[in-house]
Amino acid sequence: MEMGERAQQLGIPFSVHLDLTYRCNEKCVHCYLDHHDHGELTTAEIKNLLKEMAEAGVFILTLSGGEIFLRKDFFEILECARELTFCVKLKTNAVLIREEQAAKLSDLGVQSLQISIYSHRPEVHDVITKLPGSLKRSIAAIRLLKTQGLKVTIANVLMRTNMQDIYGVRALAEELGVECTLDPTVSPMLDGDRSILGLNTDESVLREVLHDQSFMPDVEEFCAPPAPVSEESMDAFPCSAGHNACYISPYGEFYPCVAFPLSCGNVRQQRFIDIWQNSEQLKEVRSIRLRDLSGCSQCLHGATCTRCPGMAFLEGNMRGPSTADCEKSYARTGIPSKNLLAKKDRPALPRLVQIQLVPAMVGGRLAGIGATAIPA
Ligand code: SF4
Ligand code: SF4
Repeated sequence: MEMGERAQQLGIPFSVHLDLTYRCNEKCVHCYLDHHDHGELTTAEIKNLLKEMAEAGVFILTLSGGEIFLRKDFFEILECARELTFCVKLKTNAVLIREEQAAKLSDLGVQSLQISIYSHRPEVHDVITKLPGSLKRSIAAIRLLKTQGLKVTIANVLMRTNMQDIYGVRALAEELGVECTLDPTVSPMLDGDRSILGLNTDESVLREVLHDQSFMPDVEEFCAPPAPVSEESMDAFPCSAGHNACYISPYGEFYPCVAFPLSCGNVRQQRFIDIWQNSEQLKEVRSIRLRDLSGCSQCLHGATCTRCPGMAFLEGNMRGPSTADCEKSYARTGIPSKNLLAKKDRPALPRLVQIQLVPAMVGGRLAGIGATAIPA
């Protein structure tokens, strides 16, 4: 049994994603963060939180943002995290990593770094990040990190503006000797604004990418018509969010996942373990099984769909379908869900009112959503 699975059985928060800041030196077109500081956790607050997380049994700690290296106390935080023996993973654009930083990261035993690269050509990448010279600096940093023996993964996001470069990015990753992931869709902003979805490619491009064996080694199985949903699958829960993993914003807000903006408490007001064990919102998230999902429990794709409850929540109902995942299931198999067919007959989704704005979300979405591999 895997450690994460065992942790889940024991009710342990195995993996925590902590965003240290929403400030960023890049201003990516697909990111709608409010880059101002609305009261980030202080160094002392973060160190205290790390201690609480260690006591609660957290094993994997992902530090992300915004850009983590904009925090002047970043290495102090990292040192504290490593003293507490967390397995630390970093998400960064790497623009601020020079020899000194690369050496320190190696000395501190960082497990891996995920670095965003959207094209192998500066005229595309730098236009997406709106930071001239950013591709050159990120690539230079990757070379330094590799020299230090660190594990690096390039994270790309498929958009209209860079879809012609996905193979170029992969070739760049091969040349650099690093892994490469591709997130096939842009996610809506976490305040419910869906205007950013206009950056997504056409369904035909998505279908092509999901059927490309060089991206999906098990493409036949991945794109096969779904098998009937078994009774066992009906008892499955949607994903790790709130089960053995959670997310904390730079302002201390506690969510089931970076992509699931259901506020469960704030670590400034409550101890980490108290929120993890007693939050009513987390209890509700944990109670949901496939059989409880309206639409999805009767859907052909029920057992094989990458349905994200966070995306469903952003659409207005965490027990409902996630249309972005209906689109992916359709692109994979050619079989549309009832939800997708119904959506095609309706005007575009309105801005949602269900989302409660909290300080951590005002004016933007949380970072890091677009940094997952296919499939989620
Ligand atoms: S499916 Fe969505 S909510 Fe669940 S872990 Fe993945 S991104 Fe988070
Ligand atoms: S295809 Fe849509 S309706 Fe079907 S399981 Fe996935 S999210 Fe739910």
